Amino acid sequence: MSHHWTRTWSFFNGEWQEGNIPIMGVRTHAAWLGTSVFDGARAFEGVAPDLALHCERVNRSALAMGLKPLVSVEKWVELTHEGIKRFAPGAALYIRPMYWAEYPGARTVDADPESTRWCLSLYEAGMPSPDHGTAITLSHYRRPTLECAVTDAKAGCLYPNNSRALVEAHRRGFDNAVLCDMLGNVAELATANVFLARDGVAFTPAPNGTFLAGITRTRTLNLLREAGVEVVEGALTWRDFLEADEIFSTGNYSKVTPVTRIEDRDLQPGPVFRRARELYWEFAHS
Ligand code: PMP
Repeated sequence: MSHHWTRTWSFFNGEWQEGNIPIMGVRTHAAWLGTSVFDGARAFEGVAPDLALHCERVNRSALAMGLKPLVSVEKWVELTHEGIKRFAPGAALYIRPMYWAEYPGARTVDADPESTRWCLSLYEAGMPSPDHGTAITLSHYRRPTLECAVTDAKAGCLYPNNSRALVEAHRRGFDNAVLCDMLGNVAELATANVFLARDGVAFTPAPNGTFLAGITRTRTLNLLREAGVEVVEGALTWRDFLEADEIFSTGNYSKVTPVTRIEDRDLQPGPVFRRARELYWEFAHS
């Protein structure tokens, strides 16, 4: 089986290299035991909004995973701008800085932080159109707590759980899954954060350490508030979503996109979603 990779450039071991270059060996700790962290930013329409925040977060994720954040935010940003120049002007790109452990520590399952390695990959990834709304369904899988997983890092090892929620959703005929935390409150979608709107007020789950309170989420929330839209962070139930006027998601990959079906109920992209998307695009180009 082969896979078609879109055009990809990575900075690894001191040089830019093209394609799906090998970065790990058969005995690399991260390849075996999952000690890797990453972040995802984007370039599109000639801008790369909140790039520095994504780079800051990958460095925090490294510390949470017990790795050494070897690259300064300034260096990540500088390298990213270098990388962007290798693509057509204005190309839609996914930007992925990454750290991982190469060697085990004294107890094998632990990683040696001194063996931290890193790379920066950029690759072509078209921006999904907001005209294609998302259909969501409730997953029976849950977000773990910090006692159960490294939820304070954006780590590859968290994603197999999201993956099985997505597979379950696709099997049922939906695009994405809503995952609850262990208390049963809505946490996020499998790949993005989630907002609802009722009577013109926006609501989104309050960060409680179980889910990735994303950079796009915080940005959107602040932009809405600055524009005079009330946004409430709180505990939200599945019922709150079933009864919402509007639902939309935020995340680096697709930015701000509408949910147009929740289980068997159709929804229209609404005014709060439209305002949020407009404000995000204005901010991105400012
Ligand atoms: N939750 C999950 C599980 C994600 O993978 C993402 C995408 N990074 C988000 C939320 C959104 O976070 P951000 O806005 O920082 O990209």
